[in-house]
Amino acid sequence: MAKKLNGTVIVTYRCNARCSMCNRYKAPSMPQEEITLDTIKKLPQMYFTNITGGEPFIREDLPQIVRELYKKSDRIVISTNGFFTDRIVALCKEFPQIGIRISIEGLEKTNNEIRGLEDGFNKGYTTLLKLKEMGMQDVGFGMTVQDKNADDLVPLYKLSDELNMEFATASLHNSFYFVESKNVIKDRPMVAKNFEDLVNELLKSNSPKKWFRAYFNHGLINYIYSGKRLLPCDMSFDTFFIDPYGDVMPCNGTKEKEVMGNLNEKTWDELWNSEEAEKVRSKVRCCDRNCWMIGSVSPAMHKYIHKPALWVIKHKFLRYFKDKKYSMFENKIVCDYRDGKVTKEELDLLSTCDFDGVIFDGLSDLSKEQLKDKTGEEIVDADILAQTISKGI
Ligand code: SF4
Repeated sequence: MAKKLNGTVIVTYRCNARCSMCNRYKAPSMPQEEITLDTIKKLPQMYFTNITGGEPFIREDLPQIVRELYKKSDRIVISTNGFFTDRIVALCKEFPQIGIRISIEGLEKTNNEIRGLEDGFNKGYTTLLKLKEMGMQDVGFGMTVQDKNADDLVPLYKLSDELNMEFATASLHNSFYFVESKNVIKDRPMVAKNFEDLVNELLKSNSPKKWFRAYFNHGLINYIYSGKRLLPCDMSFDTFFIDPYGDVMPCNGTKEKEVMGNLNEKTWDELWNSEEAEKVRSKVRCCDRNCWMIGSVSPAMHKYIHKPALWVIKHKFLRYFKDKKYSMFENKIVCDYRDGKVTKEELDLLSTCDFDGVIFDGLSDLSKEQLKDKTGEEIVDADILAQTISKGI
C-alpha cells in the first residue's frame, strides 16, 4: 500500500482580511479557476490535510470539498480568519471531528490593527467560543508573532489554555504565497524573550503535546535569528501543497512558485513520479531558506523524532534542578548576537527579507488580468457582497 502523505490544499487565494504581514488579499484567484472537486478526487491518501487560503470559507462549496477530502484523509484542520462564523458553525455541525485554527494576532487592539478586519478579534473569539460550546475538541488560535504583537504572546497562550484550546504559533516569512519579501523581525531579543517565556510555560504543563510545541517555539527563536533549520526539510518527499490552480508544490515558503506538475492535467501517480517533480525535489535538497512553519516542521518532527524527544527529556528533567529552565541562549546564534560576533545587519542579510526584491504572487495570467482595472480588495469585497445578496441576507 502507498505511504500516506501530508497535504495542504489552498482552496482559494481570495481573502477578506488585510494583514500587515501578508499581501495575498491584493492578489486573489478567480473563483472559476479554483480547484474543483474533480481535481480534489485525484489527491492521494493522506494522514493529515490542512485546508487553507486565502480565506477558505469564502468558498461556498467548502462543505463538498471537506466531504471529498474526508474520503482520503485521516485528519483535517482548517486555517481561517474566523470571519464567516455561520459557515464555520454549519461545517462543524456536519464534521465535529474537524480541526479549526482561527488566526488571532494578539489581544483585541493588536489583533485588529494587524489583521485589518473590523471587529476581527471579537468575531474570531466569539466563533471559537461557539465551537467550544458545541463540544468541538480540536479548535484553537493561530498567531503569527512579530514586533507589534510579541508582548501578547504569553497572555494569548494563557487565554487559550484557560479555554482548553490549541495554540499554534508562527513568525514572519517571505514567499510568493504571502506575496511579500519585506517581512523581518526588527527587535530580535525582545521577540525571542517572549518566545522564551512561552517555551517555559509550555514545558511547565503536563501535556506531552505542549512539550513538543515548546521545541517548535525553541526553533522559532532560532529562525528569527536566521539560524540554520534545526531539522532537515523534506518537503515534496512525503509532504505537498496544492494551489487553487491545481499546481502541486513542495511548500509555501519558496520565493517563486515551484511546480511539480498540475493535477488538473495528470493523475497523481504521473505527477508525483514525474521528472518535473524530481527536479523540484533536488531544489528542496539544497534550499537555504530555513523556514520554520508548522506545515514543514511537523512532518520533520515526526520523521526525526529522536531530536525533539531528546530535547524534551532534557528540559523536563532540568526543570527539577534549575530555577531558570529554558533559556533562549541555548541557541548558539542568539549568544553570537549577544556577544557581538554577528550584527543585526548580518542577521538581516541571512534572512529571506529583501527590501528591493521582486515579489512574486503565483497567480495565473487570467487572475492577473482581472487586477488591471480593479484592486484585489475591490474584487473580493464585490464577491462577498454578491454572495450575501444571492442568499437574500
Ligand atoms: S526550507 Fe523547506 S519549506 Fe522552506 S522554502 Fe525551502 S523547501 Fe520550502
